[in-house]
Amino acid sequence: MDALERITCLIIGSGPAGYTAAIYAARANLKPVLYQGIQPGGQLTITTEVENYPGYADGVQGPEMMVHFEKQAARMGADIRYGLATKVDFSSQPYKVQIDEEKWIEADSVIIATGASARWLGLESEQRLNGYGVSACAVCDGFFFRGKEVAIVGAGDTAAEEALYLSKLCTTVHMLIRRDAMRASKVMQKRVLQSPNIKIYWNTETDEVLGEKHVTAVRIRNNKTGEKQEIPVSGFFVAIGHEPNSAIFKGMIDMDEAGYIKTIPGTSKTNVEGVFAAGDVQDKIYRQAVTAAGSGCMAALDAERYLGAKGIH
Ligand code: NDP
Repeated sequence: MDALERITCLIIGSGPAGYTAAIYAARANLKPVLYQGIQPGGQLTITTEVENYPGYADGVQGPEMMVHFEKQAARMGADIRYGLATKVDFSSQPYKVQIDEEKWIEADSVIIATGASARWLGLESEQRLNGYGVSACAVCDGFFFRGKEVAIVGAGDTAAEEALYLSKLCTTVHMLIRRDAMRASKVMQKRVLQSPNIKIYWNTETDEVLGEKHVTAVRIRNNKTGEKQEIPVSGFFVAIGHEPNSAIFKGMIDMDEAGYIKTIPGTSKTNVEGVFAAGDVQDKIYRQAVTAAGSGCMAALDAERYLGAKGIH
């Protein structure tokens, strides 16, 4: 068998967390290798305009911003590669990571920045109009619907928070809830129910998002009475949860019951020495590009200290 490639600092994932980790690790001369994963650039590549990332005074398109991140990491000397981590073995050091179900590499430190994926309803129209009125992030896209009517699906804390956020921008928020109860915490439920321009539809499911080039309405159905209705809206927000992209790490690292990787508060350290996590794979609360980037920076600094203390770097 050929000798395995040995990497000092392996970064898995290419969203803001992964690229920021790569920028810092490269500048610290850790010679990072970053594998981009299945969706180079991450979730921002499926959004349109980003207006809340500091430094872009005029806003920037999500995909363009991720090209900037990549270029900056490459300019600092990070080795950026296509490829998906398909298996890991953290049982002994150096850690082993398999790429594209073929090649195994060895790493002295690993930064996990594999992100999360929004859950979708699975409607064809939802996919077709994604970015054209359909969004899974109110904080990212709500601004574009100022003074308009929107609908939001979901009844957890995220949906409640996003409905409240949208209610400050939009004339009416139609909140579509599939049961006769909300999953969100009591305090969030109360806020939603007391909000005069959030209209709740209980026992309601979405049959179709309507619109040719952009969203114009949503067709809903009451799952108790079967009654159908079309509501004219410009925006359709889906807030039915996220899935952290952590499946390959199961059994290797501590996670919560939803699969988010646990980090020691205030650090990027996981329970496995030398393995760090950054961005949405370990954050179910903030989920912003800027917070992901910040935690990517933390992971690179933690890795640098770890490698230094081990005498590897
Ligand atoms: P949750 O899993 O808590 O809620 C998902 C919601 O989407 C539920 O209301 C669920 O309905 C609904 N849903 C799921 N699938 C469908 C579907 N196909 N059609 C219609 N509705 C659907 O996800 P969240 O993202 O809201 O929250 C994730 C975690 O993060 C939670 O633990 C939450 O408390 C936490 N969080 C905390 C925040 C805070 O503290 N500030 C902010 C945001 C999240 P049903 O209830 O019927 O299953």
